[in-house]
Amino acid sequence: MRIGVIGGGQLARMMALAASPLGIRVHALDPAVDACAGEVAPLEVAAFDDLIALHRFADLCNAITFDFENVSAPALNELAAVRPVRPNPLSLATAQDRGAEKALFARIETAVAPFAIIDQPQQIAAAAVSVAFPAILKTRRFGYDGKGQINVADASLLEDAYTRLGNAPCVLETRVHFQRELSLVAVRALDGEIRCYPLVENVHVNGILSLTLAPAEVTPLLAAAAERCARRVAEALDYVGVLAIEFFDVDGQLVANEMAPRVHNSGHWSIEGAVTSQFENHIRAVAGLPLGDTAAHGVSCMLNWIGDLPDRNRALTVPGLHWHDYGKSARAGRKVGHATITAPDRSTLLRRLHQAAEVLDRQAQIAPAIARLL
Ligand code: AMP
Repeated sequence: MRIGVIGGGQLARMMALAASPLGIRVHALDPAVDACAGEVAPLEVAAFDDLIALHRFADLCNAITFDFENVSAPALNELAAVRPVRPNPLSLATAQDRGAEKALFARIETAVAPFAIIDQPQQIAAAAVSVAFPAILKTRRFGYDGKGQINVADASLLEDAYTRLGNAPCVLETRVHFQRELSLVAVRALDGEIRCYPLVENVHVNGILSLTLAPAEVTPLLAAAAERCARRVAEALDYVGVLAIEFFDVDGQLVANEMAPRVHNSGHWSIEGAVTSQFENHIRAVAGLPLGDTAAHGVSCMLNWIGDLPDRNRALTVPGLHWHDYGKSARAGRKVGHATITAPDRSTLLRRLHQAAEVLDRQAQIAPAIARLL
């Protein structure tokens, strides 16, 4: 069996690595000749909107999935006529539009930050009255890793922020005072079975995920609320594959921020820290196979390597550390790899994080993980 992944980044690469033992081949399609999935999977080099190339690619594969959100939904719709596309184009289209996403959360009775849609300049004044400041203006489409967002301290700055975002359709959101950021990775199979990984805690720096602690320390009530939300989203969209939902924890209540219709950076810990990784479970779901166990064994901390890699030889001296080099060249703000440190319990993980902080030049990055485990 062959699964075609539109996008050839690190997520496609890790899907390919997980698919191989199942006897499934992943093929990737990406416009970049040096897309990093190409090191471990056959790579078709083509633009994402090149319909002829997409059809040729689909002909090679038994099912299609994608590794990033900005795939053209109409192109995906066309492919869906000839091959199963999992998750379906509706799921992608919903996640691509912050407006549609919030409407879905509202429909399934999940709280979101107070917001207003600004599709044209005439809506600015009404939005400024209905949303409390400080707020964040986010483009409805094509935003990721904190891109396409501007903090707006008060109403007088809104018009300028809207212009700076190119007068694009936007969502204005009240800035939420959260205690922490959590996310849930879930997977839904072709037969409708849903399994959830434990809720995890994430730390972002400049809008980019810096680290994940798995599992997060949460009450059973909070975990159940997150799972209920993921189930409802997955069922509403007739979703197949891995799905991630990011939440803010506001005084013990979950406020949904956004969903990702794909394997997610906050699920990377599951490669070594869970019985079945998110990548394997995504491949299983897309291939129509039974799902694997999503339970964590022990506790894990995933550290994202952003911009460049720290010293690998030193890193490998840390017990329980698993190294992932995506084979990408160094560039500011670019995710070039990650490491997951696993441990049987929190005190062992704390000791291992101290060791990592000693040997790597990433003390500032590791410090928030240490603080949370103390
Ligand atoms: P997003 O692209 O929506 O995931 O936003 C990136 C990061 O910005 C989030 O992980 C939060 O740290 C922060 N952020 C986004 N929206 C809000 C909000 N309404 N209130 C507070 N922080 C936010």
